[in-house]
Amino acid sequence: MGFTTTVPGTARIGADRELKRAVEGYWAGRVDAAELESVAAQLRRTGWQELLTTGLDSVPVNTFSYYDQMLDTAVLLGALPPRVSGIENPLDRYFAAARGAGSRASGPGHNSAEGVTPLEMTKWFDTNYHYLVPEIGPDTVFSLDASKVLSEFTEAVAQGIPARPVVIGPITFLGLSKADADGPEPLSRIDELLPLYEQLLGELSAAGAQWVQIDEPVLVTDVPTERNGRSALPELAERVYTRLGGLIDRPRILVQTYFGDAGESLAALGRTGVEGVGVDLVYGTAESVRSAELNGKLVVAGVVDGRNIWRTDLDAALAILEDLRPAVGELAVSTSCSTLHVPYTLAAETGLDENLRGWLAFASEKFAEVAALSRALTNGRVSQADVFEAARDALATRATDARLSVDSVRERLAALGESDRRRTAAATRRERQHEALGLPELPTTTIGSFPQTGDIRKARQRLRLGEIDQTAYREQMEAEIAAVIALQDEIGLDVLVHGEPERNDMVQYFAEQFDGFFATQNGWVQSYGSRCVRPPILYGDVTRPTPMTVGWITHAQSLTGKIVKGMLTGPVTILAWSFVRDDQPLATTADQVALAIRDETVDLERAGVGIIQVDEPALRELLPLRSGDRQAYLDWAVGAFRLSTSGVADETQIHTHLCYSEFGDVIGAIADLDADVTSIEAARSHMEVLDDLNAIGFSNEVGPGVYDIHSPRIPNAAEMTDLLREALSAVPAERLWVNPDCGLKTRTTEQVTAALTAMVDAAKAVRA
Ligand code: GLN
Ligand code: ZN
Repeated sequence: MGFTTTVPGTARIGADRELKRAVEGYWAGRVDAAELESVAAQLRRTGWQELLTTGLDSVPVNTFSYYDQMLDTAVLLGALPPRVSGIENPLDRYFAAARGAGSRASGPGHNSAEGVTPLEMTKWFDTNYHYLVPEIGPDTVFSLDASKVLSEFTEAVAQGIPARPVVIGPITFLGLSKADADGPEPLSRIDELLPLYEQLLGELSAAGAQWVQIDEPVLVTDVPTERNGRSALPELAERVYTRLGGLIDRPRILVQTYFGDAGESLAALGRTGVEGVGVDLVYGTAESVRSAELNGKLVVAGVVDGRNIWRTDLDAALAILEDLRPAVGELAVSTSCSTLHVPYTLAAETGLDENLRGWLAFASEKFAEVAALSRALTNGRVSQADVFEAARDALATRATDARLSVDSVRERLAALGESDRRRTAAATRRERQHEALGLPELPTTTIGSFPQTGDIRKARQRLRLGEIDQTAYREQMEAEIAAVIALQDEIGLDVLVHGEPERNDMVQYFAEQFDGFFATQNGWVQSYGSRCVRPPILYGDVTRPTPMTVGWITHAQSLTGKIVKGMLTGPVTILAWSFVRDDQPLATTADQVALAIRDETVDLERAGVGIIQVDEPALRELLPLRSGDRQAYLDWAVGAFRLSTSGVADETQIHTHLCYSEFGDVIGAIADLDADVTSIEAARSHMEVLDDLNAIGFSNEVGPGVYDIHSPRIPNAAEMTDLLREALSAVPAERLWVNPDCGLKTRTTEQVTAALTAMVDAAKAVRA
């Protein structure tokens, strides 16, 4: 009845980002709908065929998307926001919900001045993929539109694909949606959705689907669904799937979880009528599966890591499978989650050294691992002897590679003590810094980046292509820096920045200069919509061979009498936006990166840089999905940040920058970072964060953002004056800084000039 070999989903952007080019062409009017659809159909066909020929006997369909699977689900359930309903053409309506429409279709989270505002975006669990957040409000009247899933299913069947339609489940859909205005919690409306899912199951059954996969990754979190804060998800899962499972005319149901341990929810699902449960055995445990009593069901066992890029230890994976087999009804082999989160194929990487290549598995290689494990489970390990042997050899070279354990790094880590993560008392530092820096009250500054113009990006591209040499590149960047310094001097800011023109990306820039990292050539992963990123791979012990930023900062400093702050990315953010080695605790890896950053802070200080900012915008992103795991994470994350910033003298002022507006779970950690100055997003939430910081006794300096840089709108001085006055009611003037919410790289020079001029005016008005 079941199947043996599958994956929960795959990427859809295309191995050469074909979909990116097609949708961007459609948005620009260069590509028509028919052409876009034909690119999409071709990508689906290639993807399905690959899974089939690799040996998967059940292939997920409807995991294709023009933009985002949550947005697709909003369409499926009739939950697009009312403000797009006036747009006739369904495809344009869809893209309007994703990107806005009207006078100026804008990027994610960027409010267009007029026209339709897009849905908000946020991170998909603890991955770097961003989904669109459906808005559920009084005007939301759910209704089923199964056309996409039905047409992809029939399309696949017509190609001879053993297709298994995939949809996001009702608990996850509502659990990740947000209430419109002051409406009730979306999850409270789940009973309105169940008839729609019943109808969907009926339609899929009529179309001939044998199985349907219903994704419920929210079951690995503890989103509280009751006022008492206790997670009611297992109860909810049992209720929902007892009902759907009780339906007579339906395909077999696989409830798929991923990104962690579904814990008690597995037992809850075990008590329902669903035929299959998908579990993540890389980030979750086999114990949970064993204790859940799933002996009547098909368990889809995700033993191949779907979200990291390391080659699987096949012996270990097979051992887990063989161990589990007696405890379940049937067993299928799978990846731990959709391969959306890893690049397509190692075949596109021609610049890797052969050892490194052997340690890796991108999506295609993972499909082959799944297939090999499945055959080994059925026919015995001997049937796959060569494959297992090759994996063993590769892992042996990985375990013994000198780059993975560098003595000098290990010795340095072993010698660390608590004092390496501690500076003098903050109050003492503040006194010395005020004396050394001589800044005015309410000092004005920015977060680091200035507009990344087309010229800057072109120069980097020409350097890469060999059209210009290092010297010419450096000269052009220095000219950019000079322009940015002159602009800030003219505007009258107090603490200047060099503008970060030389950085392609705030993580990649450092990864390229550290030892222990390498960059892929074509390792693109969808970040949101048509946007892709190429995360660096952190594979070995990390060191910083030479200074990375000192030349740029001292050049900038030589051009002005004002103080220029040094600008670095913190260890937690570097880990969050890379693929990270899985052979040692993250805490150890974070400390290694922290030491490399620390070396840079010491060199900057030695070069006369008096203020150094270490950005940690991802501190909250890596927060574990289960609350019980959070403290341990925050301990090492804070420890790594402090290690990276405690090597400097009391007089050197350490800044950090965090950019999200909901702090809840991490507010205590922000204080524990013990940065001298923390700049933080605050404009949209009207300085609320200051009260939260006060509530936990935060007493260092703080720069609550006085305007939202995500919008092209120019704020005026009066509104920033108001925000500053509000801030002053929570924080005394001697602890308050004046800065925007985040870096300025996505804005134009005109916007930046106008906004910063108004910001400086506001600071002057409040000082007076
Ligand atoms: N210093 C960085 C910048 O200004 C910080 C970016 C961020 O917070 N993501 O661009
Ligand atoms: Zn930011």
